[in-house]
Amino acid sequence: MWGYADARQALRDALRLSRAMTYKSAVADLPLGGGKGVIMTAPGAVLTSERRTAALLDFGDTVQSLDGRYITAEDVGTSSRDMRVIAERTEHVAGLPVRQGGSGDPSPFTALGVEAAIRACCERVFSSSSLGERTVAVIGLGHVGSRVAKRCAKAGARLVVSDIDEGKRHFAAELGARWAAPAEALELDVDVVAPCALGGVLDHETVPRLRCRVIAGAANNQLANESVADLLAARQILWAPDFVANAGGLISIAEELNGYNAAAARRRVRHIGDTLREIFDEAEATDATPLTAATAIARKRLAT
Ligand code: NAD
Repeated sequence: MWGYADARQALRDALRLSRAMTYKSAVADLPLGGGKGVIMTAPGAVLTSERRTAALLDFGDTVQSLDGRYITAEDVGTSSRDMRVIAERTEHVAGLPVRQGGSGDPSPFTALGVEAAIRACCERVFSSSSLGERTVAVIGLGHVGSRVAKRCAKAGARLVVSDIDEGKRHFAAELGARWAAPAEALELDVDVVAPCALGGVLDHETVPRLRCRVIAGAANNQLANESVADLLAARQILWAPDFVANAGGLISIAEELNGYNAAAARRRVRHIGDTLREIFDEAEATDATPLTAATAIARKRLAT
């Protein structure tokens, strides 16, 4: 659920996000395709609780009309409580609260996967997956980013944290981190930038100004377009394809479809590190970008 200036922008986002979901499922080798639902609000709008419930119920009707071909779950702007409202209208909803037999909020699993991705990238670039000597900037301190920041702090990393919402400043104090404005955080001289807000942050204007060696984060569609992957490679910045690094939540939700087992979900999510190692090996062997290597794996799986 997000604010868009017009329906065309919302539709474009839904299509880009659903494409990313397709690649995400394929690279994680899940028996799922990909889809995404967007509930469009006006930019900056805060819905009354009645209107919010009405929008979620309408959305539930839409999901139900697809007869199980689309299963919805939480993402930006929604919570497991919202999934409970949607479930009043459709059974095709995952990420329900744990006491209702669901796997709950997928964000902790997404954050676990992002940490695995950061470590795999650090291993490749700095010859060590340890975060003890690394500086990490986490941009976007929502459900996933706040947890990525906590995990990195626990692993001993020096942290910079950032959000457009000044109300998130308390994370900096709690984690002993430095606070920076989002545009500044992106360009800091740090080892790792973890984009955990919205997409499109990496483009032909921002990439030339980057000073990090690794980018691995939760945000979907981080690249403004595919040519940005070449620019990152030319600048010798290792980028973990977002649809690989942020697959943890989806992997956990896929477990839910077979009878949920949290330990099995965590094991599969940690495997994201191995998947990335394979992608980086393939990229090096074929002189391609990680994006090309990851997309090739996805296309091959989709074809079979
Ligand atoms: P969220 O809505 O909980 O948090 C987003 C945070 O980013 C908010 O704190 C917001 O204030 C901040 N933000 C928005 N614009 C910003 C900007 N320009 N600069 C800095 N901060 C900004 O969302 P989330 O669930 O944490 O998801 C974050 C990203 O990860 C999204 O792109 C989402 O699609 C992706 N993702 C989430 C999951 C999941 O499990 N929740 C799974 C896969 C991918």
